[in-house]
Amino acid sequence: MVNVTLPDGTKQAFAEGSTIRDIAERIGPGLAKAAIAGKVNGAIVDLSHVLEGDASVQIITPKDKEGVKVMRHSCAHVMAEAICGLWPAARLVYGPTVEDGFYYDIDLDEPIRPTDFERIEQKMDEIAKADRPFIRTEMTREQAMAKLAGDPYKSDNVSRAEGGTISFYSHGGGFEDLCRGPHVPSTGRIGAFKILSVAGAYWHGDASQKMLQRVYGTTWPTRKDLDDYLNRIEEAKRRDHRVVGRQLDLFSFNEAGPGFAFMHPRGMVIWNSIVDFWRSVHARYGYVEIKTPIILNEQLWHRSGHWDNYKENMYFTTVDDTAYAIKPMNCPGGCLVYQTRQHSYREFPLRVAELGLVHRHEASGVMHGLFRVRQFTQDDAHIFCTPPQIESEIVGVIDLTREIYGAFGFKDVRIELSTKPVKHIGSEEIWEVSTNALKGALAERPIDYQINEGDGAFYGPKIDFHIRDCLGRSWQLGTIQLDFSMPARFDLVYTDEDNTEKTPVMIHRAVLGSFERFIGILIEHFAGNMPVWLSPEQVRVLPISEKSNDYAVAVQTRLREAGVRCASDLSDEKIGAKIAKAHGEKTPCMAVVGPKEAQSNTVHVRVRGGQDGKAMALDAFASLLQRTIASKQTDPVTS
Ligand SMILES: [Zn+2]
Ligand SMILES: [Zn+2]
Repeated sequence: MVNVTLPDGTKQAFAEGSTIRDIAERIGPGLAKAAIAGKVNGAIVDLSHVLEGDASVQIITPKDKEGVKVMRHSCAHVMAEAICGLWPAARLVYGPTVEDGFYYDIDLDEPIRPTDFERIEQKMDEIAKADRPFIRTEMTREQAMAKLAGDPYKSDNVSRAEGGTISFYSHGGGFEDLCRGPHVPSTGRIGAFKILSVAGAYWHGDASQKMLQRVYGTTWPTRKDLDDYLNRIEEAKRRDHRVVGRQLDLFSFNEAGPGFAFMHPRGMVIWNSIVDFWRSVHARYGYVEIKTPIILNEQLWHRSGHWDNYKENMYFTTVDDTAYAIKPMNCPGGCLVYQTRQHSYREFPLRVAELGLVHRHEASGVMHGLFRVRQFTQDDAHIFCTPPQIESEIVGVIDLTREIYGAFGFKDVRIELSTKPVKHIGSEEIWEVSTNALKGALAERPIDYQINEGDGAFYGPKIDFHIRDCLGRSWQLGTIQLDFSMPARFDLVYTDEDNTEKTPVMIHRAVLGSFERFIGILIEHFAGNMPVWLSPEQVRVLPISEKSNDYAVAVQTRLREAGVRCASDLSDEKIGAKIAKAHGEKTPCMAVVGPKEAQSNTVHVRVRGGQDGKAMALDAFASLLQRTIASKQTDPVTS
């Protein structure tokens, strides 16, 4: 007999040779029907897996994340069979799952085109309908190598595989593939799928190797899940900040500086609005601000540890025959400012912010609009404090962070706490004090958080903040990082109550992370329809004809005096065309004016996304806008 422990803690005995399917069947027919794989002592296995001894077992269905992954990988096999059926010359290379889907790298001289996707899908449909079982066979490494002789790709995969046993999976139709598994029980269980794209990919990502065709697909438990996903990616494409940024003339990139963003006047308005808000909140939370140089002597980076740990991502230069580095982080500069005078416990906590321009070298292949750049402004700060002050400082950073996110409409904030890794510096005591301080701070605020045990940096534990945008995508923005290394490296000290010199605790923290990236996220989150307080142009005045141009300019002047960013369209276009243009440029408010409005000192207000609009006294409109801007309302103007 083998003893099986189920997820609810109950134990049941099964006959020797029992499979995961046997266990599912005993638990209930519904579960047996839904089952697609099992989890044995934490490892995902086929339903046909035979238990080899006592084990804890969980039945995996398409409702489980792991189940969807098994479906996706199985779907990759089915796609591979379909492609090999259509192109007998195709040779399979490697077919893993990726987030939300899978791909298969294929060596085939004839290009697979998007117009081919439909017939590949038809073939996959046939294979799925036939509902043929996935069958696993195992052999020794030597047998596998003999079987795969002449296939450079699969032989290479075997040579990279771990363990002495090599497995293959067939699902009938004469199709078999080298694979570790596991798989769904049969081809009918691969879910609702779609082929998404095809792109070139070098074997092993090595540009000296042959260019392969990487075919991407996705599969979901139900047709509805698939449709929702396809809608989400369509919507994400529509909102792509690179496209919207060009349409709205917010920023650009140039070959003269790959990965270095050029912010245009309209983009700078968004940027400066965020900076103004950021500064006002930081001042209220007791921060001071500094600015440190971008280029600093290379010796400093040896001392800070960046040379040893971060050299590959840094830029270097020479000034007067001396080696310098361009800062990838602001911390060493912050330490130099701290060192310029003596410090006492009385002035702690010391909260020193810096909107620091940093350069980090990223491979050219990973750059992506404002999301991945080589130069960005980090909304950094360093807090110097005593160990007993850590907890209240963290609470303060959490409050400040949530307040800032909230102003942009991001209310769904999730936190991850990463604790002491195996390799670490600093005493056990300081790790315990600080980790408990982080936990204490999190307990003090009702906030959803998860612990990543052992995932902290070697120099201290950290907290990461994640937000969710309107498409459900999660973005890591802020971070709080305790550092037991740098204050000592820079001999930072303060005089404590007992008149002795001590090393301060240093907390690094960023709220938005990178201004560039955050603006990219905002553009996609709002699809370019920035809230009024962030809009480059908050109101456009539209005279219905040339006769009302003077009044339009007067309205513009009145609104500008009220602190509103306002322009007027004095072109010869018809009013309908002017409205369409303002809509297209995502101006949140339009003030249409004609002789009637001029006479009564009113404006006809149209709101982005609204249809008709309504008449308002000019003064009332000005104060409504002031209220809307001051409250950082994320909806369009409402009275
Ligand atoms: Zn497989
Ligand atoms: Zn820092």
